[in-house]
Amino acid sequence: MKLFLAALVCALPCMAAQPLKAPVVPDKVADQFAPAPYGGQRIEGILGERMRVNLEGRLLHVDEKGILECFEHRPGAQEWAGEHAGKFLHAAANTWLYTGDGRIKTLMDRVARALVAAQLPDGYLGTYLDEQRWTSWDVWVHKYDLIGLIAYYQATGFGPALDASRKIGDLLCRTFGTGPGQRDIVKSGTHVGMAATSILEPMVNLYRFTGDRKYLDFCEYLVRSWSQPNGPGIIESLNASGSVFRTANAKAYEMMSNLVGLAELYRATGNPAYLRTAQIAWKDIATHRLYVTGTTSSSEHFAGDGVLPGEEASNVGEGCATVTWLQLTWQLLRLTGEPQYAEQLEHTVYNALLGAQDPRTGDICYFTPLNGRKSPTPGINCCVSSEPRGISMIPQLAWGSRAAGAAVLFYVPGRVNVSTASGAVAIDVKTNYPAEGSAALTVSPEKTARFALYLRVPEWTARFSATAGGRAYQGAPGQFLTIEREWKPGDQVEIDMDLTARLLPGGPSYPYGAAIARGPQVLALEQAVNPGVLDLQAAGPRSAQVKLADARASLPRNWRGAQAYRIDGVVAGKPGDLTLVPFADARVYRVWLLKP
Ligand SMILES: [Zn+2]
Repeated sequence: MKLFLAALVCALPCMAAQPLKAPVVPDKVADQFAPAPYGGQRIEGILGERMRVNLEGRLLHVDEKGILECFEHRPGAQEWAGEHAGKFLHAAANTWLYTGDGRIKTLMDRVARALVAAQLPDGYLGTYLDEQRWTSWDVWVHKYDLIGLIAYYQATGFGPALDASRKIGDLLCRTFGTGPGQRDIVKSGTHVGMAATSILEPMVNLYRFTGDRKYLDFCEYLVRSWSQPNGPGIIESLNASGSVFRTANAKAYEMMSNLVGLAELYRATGNPAYLRTAQIAWKDIATHRLYVTGTTSSSEHFAGDGVLPGEEASNVGEGCATVTWLQLTWQLLRLTGEPQYAEQLEHTVYNALLGAQDPRTGDICYFTPLNGRKSPTPGINCCVSSEPRGISMIPQLAWGSRAAGAAVLFYVPGRVNVSTASGAVAIDVKTNYPAEGSAALTVSPEKTARFALYLRVPEWTARFSATAGGRAYQGAPGQFLTIEREWKPGDQVEIDMDLTARLLPGGPSYPYGAAIARGPQVLALEQAVNPGVLDLQAAGPRSAQVKLADARASLPRNWRGAQAYRIDGVVAGKPGDLTLVPFADARVYRVWLLKP
């Protein structure tokens, strides 16, 4: 299947420019799903509000001096202090492409120029003294330099950012390898070398944007280095055991970062072993190691099958792991076009991703428990820098081109332009999802044209129907509902889906527990709306047949969030009402309730 990626005619007011720079070498593998470009789309509702908070609360308040001083006054105060500038540039470039906001443009321009200016003549752009070069997290820091500078170059066309990236790439190619006098990359990074070899992802992009074959050769060296006797054995181990827990030291963020790079390398080379390995890991995480909120890792590591402790002391779901899981899933969505990946993206966004952000300030949680209290902070740490990247990706997850048609993956109020084999199509969506399950789409091709509209049908829904052109369609859970017809400008599609409430089993870690989900959202028993419940641990639903009643009236005056649901419950052995809010809005709460 061939996707049509021709430049879009911007029929809607374009706030920001389209990315200025495109890759100079074509990929070997064509994507089966191509996200709609950032420019010319608009997302409103809950996701739009959270992106606004990400910009206003977090990105515009980044500690600019704090993320740059480690480069300007080496050595950095901390071993990975250099990662934050690149992470910021990536999130800022995405956010600027989406919003066209002049303030974020000015700020990211300054950070990019300062970062480039800190590069040494030989290409080094780390934060270590000469005698400490390439120890600990030094290669990792260069990975984020490349991610940030290439994203910035792609968005703005600023040549010196690509020149600086080339100089980093050239230095890496000279320094690491198996030739005489070259260093072993595995020995140059923590976590069985995985921190260093995860530079794979931006090295594929450096090849893509320069066309220089030596960077692709370096990528193949990185993958071979995994198989060295001292290496993490990522491909062999995943193919033999099928388990990320049994691979290397099971460090979640670093291993998934390598797998994101492997998916990129598959796109560039077409080697099927790379895709297969990434899919094995994804399936293992999704089946055995994913919290009900759509994140993974306890104390930053994968745990055994079904072992998913959710307390504050369990260090649940590092923010960096949430975002890297999102990136790995997004890669597989693009490469395969399969709905299971879009399903997971929606689940992670509405729960783990938004749940780690303070909806008032934009502050970020490092870990986010399933039971306990969230502790969002500003400041500088890995997760505070990672989460805004994940939030900035939301417009790339919601809709786009699929199999010569247009695909709607998230039901969000807003509008988008999608390119299809029959030309550009504007889609306008009116909905109050996920509070309500209805959505009205207006589909407007430039002129009457035949193409397929793919509507993602969530796995959890008990009923999904759509009407278009006087005809009714029924969707099957977990599949795309395909409406292929002659569309004329202004055609309407009415969608009605059941936001089925359901009881989720507690698994091995919570055998006496149950959680409640509604639509894409996991719900939590929030202390602030249950003042009479003295011990949240002693509460649970009365029946396995969960019935939710609207309880918005019980939300406190200053509450951020507009959803609340009442259920018949049991509190300390006695019947009593319980009020639940989306996990993303909760502050002091329990997801795991007593099983009825
Ligand atoms: Zn982190």
